[in-house]
Amino acid sequence: MKSLDDVVEFHGHICPGLVLGYRVSIVALKKFGDRAEDEEIVAIVENNSCAVDAVQVVTGCTFGKGNLIFKDYGKQVYTFIKRPSGESLRISVKWESPQETEEEKEMWEKYIRGDRSEDVLKAVHYRKSRKIDSIIHAGDEELFTIKKVRMEPPEEAEIYPSIRCSLCGEKVMKPRAKVRDGKIVCIPCFEKDIK
Ligand SMILES: [Zn+2]
Ligand SMILES: [Zn+2]
Repeated sequence: MKSLDDVVEFHGHICPGLVLGYRVSIVALKKFGDRAEDEEIVAIVENNSCAVDAVQVVTGCTFGKGNLIFKDYGKQVYTFIKRPSGESLRISVKWESPQETEEEKEMWEKYIRGDRSEDVLKAVHYRKSRKIDSIIHAGDEELFTIKKVRMEPPEEAEIYPSIRCSLCGEKVMKPRAKVRDGKIVCIPCFEKDIK
């Protein structure tokens, strides 16, 4: 099982979003067992925040393997689908960050106006660690609404042959190739204005 340290190493820093994504992933793995070596689990993520990096590292649902599907809804919702059964888990984040003090609000205002003085940085950093701490110590039921659902697993990623674009000469996977003036071209060449 990947640790929070592994996740931080991949992501580059620790932040509340990443820790939430880590907790989401642990719930998914508790339900489905092992990390996906191949495409046994598919994740549908409804945002592209820091959390998604944790999902990739911990669950093995990755952009490159094609078993991470991004829906640009701006929602903190993560659905995991087991192949081939279609058994699924929909995890929606309901966690609320701890109440900010007046002073913290003020410091945050200064921070977003570009103030990087020692006091401001200290306050912002402290606020961030309080959030992270709260997420780490909360129970699953405080963090998430978890629903068992059943979904049709998406098709497995297919491997397509490449063909060459007749304009730039670069390779393009066949289903993305276009035809322009009777010639096979890639999308950027297709969309480029030809003088
Ligand atoms: Zn982050
Ligand atoms: Zn081209």
